[in-house]
Formats: sequence, structure tokens, C-alpha cells
Amino acid sequence: MKVKKSDRTSKKRRYTSPGGDRRIEYHKRKHSVIVCASCGEKLKGVPLRLNKKSKTEKVPNRPYAGIYCSACSRKVIKDKIYEKIRNMGE
Ligand SMILES: [Zn+2]
Repeated sequence: MKVKKSDRTSKKRRYTSPGGDRRIEYHKRKHSVIVCASCGEKLKGVPLRLNKKSKTEKVPNRPYAGIYCSACSRKVIKDKIYEKIRNMGE
């Protein structure tokens, strides 16, 4: 894979070639895996690179998408609703 030399975010590795020249190898940085904020599980359906993707391939269309997994988002939403009900009684 070709990496732009002007790209400052790409990682460099200096090495000596078999011929004795000093060369620089350019590596592209790997994207970190997106995980759930509460349980730490890998999020499904959330692509690492969002550019050049159609809308259906992007983050799920629900609240807390891309932050919590489906089970944790359900818990968070339930907790928020219970809190609202509690506050209404007072
Ligand atoms: Zn989770």
C-alpha cells in the first residue's frame, strides 16, 4: 500500500537496506477498534472509516449509536426514563 510521504500522521521506520543505504519506511496507522463505552465490547455495524460509505453502511440509526452497544443503550435509555418518572413524582 502506498503512503503519502507528506502525511505527518503516517509512522516512519528508519532502516538500512541490504545495499547499505539508509531508507525510511512509511506505514499507515491502523484505526483503533470502536468499543462500547460501558461494557467494552466491540461495536457491530460501526465502520472504522466513515468516508465514502453509503448511509446504510454507516452508524446505526438509533440513540447512543456508536457509543453504546445495543444492550447497553437499552439499559441507559431505561434508566433515563425511570429517572424522569421518579422526578415527576416529586
Ligand atoms: Zn455495551
